[in-house]
Amino acid sequence: MSAQEEKIKLEERDRTLQEIANRLGVRAERGRRFAELTSLRVGGSIDWVISPETEAQAAAIVYELEQAGIGWRALGSGSNVLADDGEHHYVVLSLSDMKGEVRVEGDCVSVSAGYSLPRLCIDVARQGLSGIEGLGALWMNAGAYGHEIGTVTEIVRVAREGKVAEIPGDSVQWNYRHSSFKEGELLLGATLRLLHDDPDQIRARMDDAKSRRLATQPHGARSAGCFFKNPPASTTGTGKIIDEMGMKGARRGTAVVSPVHANFIVTEGENARAEDALALAEEIRERVRREQGIELEYEVELWRANQPTKQVTGEVASEDRDVDEKGKEQQP
Ligand SMILES: Cc1cc2nc3c(=O)[nH]c(=O)nc-3n(C[C@H](O)[C@H](O)[C@H](O)COP(=O)(O)OP(=O)(O)OC[C@H]3O[C@@H](n4cnc5c(N)ncnc54)[C@H](O)[C@@H]3O)c2cc1C
Repeated sequence: MSAQEEKIKLEERDRTLQEIANRLGVRAERGRRFAELTSLRVGGSIDWVISPETEAQAAAIVYELEQAGIGWRALGSGSNVLADDGEHHYVVLSLSDMKGEVRVEGDCVSVSAGYSLPRLCIDVARQGLSGIEGLGALWMNAGAYGHEIGTVTEIVRVAREGKVAEIPGDSVQWNYRHSSFKEGELLLGATLRLLHDDPDQIRARMDDAKSRRLATQPHGARSAGCFFKNPPASTTGTGKIIDEMGMKGARRGTAVVSPVHANFIVTEGENARAEDALALAEEIRERVRREQGIELEYEVELWRANQPTKQVTGEVASEDRDVDEKGKEQQP
């Protein structure tokens, strides 16, 4: 397709998108950048960011986009995405406005996709419900300290044919930092079945998890958590491998290997670049390959401007972990 044809196609897409957003009453913005929407604070321009406020709106809008042949990607808090510095010609469906209401019935808690998980942990702890303190999102089957969110998920609400559909949590395969949801599935919310416990004890466990994180991870730094998965065949975590190569503090432009946790790449400065983080990541991979014979896989998702679909980074993902007293690694 020539540049002129591409331009006409995009203008047509823009008109269609604006019409759909207006009709459904969903905010659609231009001129946003991944640097504003991801925790690494890097990444280039995005054609459109659309922000539904309710699960029904989100289900309706993705249906309409699909009917119109307009590609989209879901973005939560952007804490596991490294988007490159280019111009991303696709639509980002931001879930950050979709907070909804937390509904508690007995030991079940229903929550929408945009609700902050740390906030939810605090809310339910006050009501004496435990089981998610220290977890992350459903898509990645996030987890920490021996818990994973999939194990407490009773129902997942997904977008199907423009409507909100419910699927049982036990019909989903929950693997290590990976779920069996297919590319293009939008998760709208979930009902979690928690355990009753003493609010003081839950609070104490949350405080404990927080202090362990503060001791082992860079605090207040701009990161995406662990950058690489742990090598499946190695008993040593990736953080330790990188640390033992003396790479803590290694720098490429605006990206640095955290001096606190070697599997965290942090970015610095107003003009930080994804290019620097990627170059540093590739330098680490090259050294680990050369010196250890290990091929590190990305845990962070790389979103390329010239790739309309996500890069598949492998079936089994893992978050880097610290080594506990038994020599087994634990989530940070
Ligand atoms: C300091 C720090 C510490 C971390 N520690 C941990 C940890 O201990 N354990 C852990 O597991 N992770 C950890 N992470 C990584 C990350 O926070 C989690 O993986 C988190 O669950 C990602 O959620 P998100 O909303 O930010 O996802 P995003 O980064 O926004 O998206 C990640 C992927 O999920 C998809 N996605 C997001 N929402 C939806 C949706 N509603 N429907 C469909 N797809 C969706 C996106 O398209 C993308 O593919 C850490 C990150 C940071 C910055």
